[in-house]
Amino acid sequence: MRELISAPRPPGNLDVCELLADNQSKEATRGLKTWRRAKDRGALVGVHTCGDARVVPTSIFCTPTIIEIASIAAASSVEPFSYAMRHSGVMASIVLGHFALDSIIKKGYAEGCGGLHERSHLSSVEQDPEGDSVEKYILDNVASPDVAIQTIISATQMC
Ligand SMILES: [Zn+2]
Repeated sequence: MRELISAPRPPGNLDVCELLADNQSKEATRGLKTWRRAKDRGALVGVHTCGDARVVPTSIFCTPTIIEIASIAAASSVEPFSYAMRHSGVMASIVLGHFALDSIIKKGYAEGCGGLHERSHLSSVEQDPEGDSVEKYILDNVASPDVAIQTIISATQMC
């Protein structure tokens, strides 16, 4: 029994007590106060990102005062989050399109988003996926394999 208790846990496997302590830490409390003050001033920013982008919007904008929604290719409907995104505390909402900078440098065009790449290989005429498959999600939500076009479409849907 002693060996089990002292055995190291796998990284990233936090227990509830550690999560609670982290949520109640001085840093977390300070961040929450900052976020609430920004909300009261109408200074929050809504950001819709691709969940595969590995980008941290708080790092890009150098502020913790962000409401972030992530979906495949930043293409899902934001309607379930419309209250938050259109709240008076949100001064602006933006969509971050996802591509690899290297693709532009090396190939001259943007690629690197798995959702957009998959969209270029799916045709709603040729395939008719059913259920909750990723292919069905992409056909239903990703209108274009082009990152600029899809980003504009996603942005218009946030209004
Ligand atoms: Zn992506």
